[in-house]
Parts: sequence; structure tokens; C-alpha cells
Amino acid sequence: MTDNLTAPDELLLRLRRFHSDYFPLHQQRFQDLVTDGQHPKTLFIGCSDSRLVPYLLTGAGPGELFIVRNVGAFVPPYDGSHGLHGTMAAIEFAVLSLKVERIIVCGHSHCGAIRVAYEGAPEEAVALKAWLKLADEALLPVQPSPEAISRTEQRAVVLQLERLMAYPMVRREVEAGTLTLHGWYYIIEDGEIHVFDAQKGDFVAASVSDHSGTGPYQPYVEYDGQILSL
Ligand SMILES: [Zn+2]
Repeated sequence: MTDNLTAPDELLLRLRRFHSDYFPLHQQRFQDLVTDGQHPKTLFIGCSDSRLVPYLLTGAGPGELFIVRNVGAFVPPYDGSHGLHGTMAAIEFAVLSLKVERIIVCGHSHCGAIRVAYEGAPEEAVALKAWLKLADEALLPVQPSPEAISRTEQRAVVLQLERLMAYPMVRREVEAGTLTLHGWYYIIEDGEIHVFDAQKGDFVAASVSDHSGTGPYQPYVEYDGQILSL
């Protein structure tokens, strides 16, 4: 397999390869998922970035992850409106119909959404400009150095967890103990997820963490004492 999709024919070859090589080995699994339906336990809200590969990171197979991805891995504020909110619809469906047991919000290093939130989007990108306002509260009033951007990327993940708690069905299930929230920050160059620890108010490398992330049951306090909460 080549590293890049360089031509339409390459894409066609990959489709054929899936059908002829992969599918026969896993046909029963797919058949069961059709017969029994899907029962994923996890809603994965991730950035659209091509370098973030949820199945690789979690070792999940077909039927295990219900995924919604968008620019920045943002969660729109729950405002009771009935617009075309794809991410909001996915959250409602996952919690109310699929009854997932955990929600993961996964941001990452070198996130273009955060960089553009600082630098500004092209004039023509009206939807993108509006969407990136969802990062405003995570932005720092400093020159966007690599360190500041990294901190902002992490703050953005925590912001989305806070916003999730404003969804009535999410809060209800979290408080009932049937749903857990997990904030993840993927450092591409290290190949490691750092999980948000609500008690520590910080992200901890998965290699040394004793859990896969905890939700925002208390305000997120930065080292400089600044409290980030909605
Ligand atoms: Zn991103």
C-alpha cells in the first residue's frame, strides 16, 4: 500500500482490497453487527485531522466506536435551538438511543483549528469562522507560541467536556453514574494520548495514568491559578 492517495485508481484498488482481503476474514463480525445491530459503548468526538486515527489509538474494531468528527473536536453549547447541529444530534443519538457508557473528546497537538482560531480564517470561509468561535474561551491573551498553542489545545478539550455537562441527557447520565466523560489530548509526535485528570486539573500521559480520563466534576484550575469554567 502506498502512503498517499495519489490517483483515483489507487482509491479503487483500496476498495477492492478491502472487499477481497479484509472482509472475508471478518465477515461473521460484520454479519453479527447487522443481525444484532450496533451497540457501541463509546461516543468518540474527535478532530477531523487526518493524523488522528481513533481505531489505531484505541484498538477498536467494527461496532465499537460511534464517531463524530469536526474541525477542532468542538461541542456546540447546548442552547435548546433546533438548527442543523450535526455534532449535537450525534451526542443526543449516542446518549439517548445507543446509551453509550462513555464519551471521549479527543483533541491533539498541531491542531489546525486552534492555529486558525488565533490567526483567523480566510474571508470566504464563513462557516469555519463561525465554528471556530467555539474555541474563543480557550484562547490565551498572548502571542501564540508553540507552548501557548499546546496549552490552548488542552484547554479546548476541557471546554468541550464542560459544554457536554450542559447537555441535559449527558448530565443526567453522568450524575446517575451510567456515563463517564474522558478528555484526551493526542500528541502526534510522541504517539501518546494524555488523559485529563479532573482531580489534578491537568493532562497525564496514558503511560503513567491510572485511568483513561475523568470528567469535569470540578473547575479546571491552571497552574497560574486561573480557573477555566463556563
Ligand atoms: Zn485538529
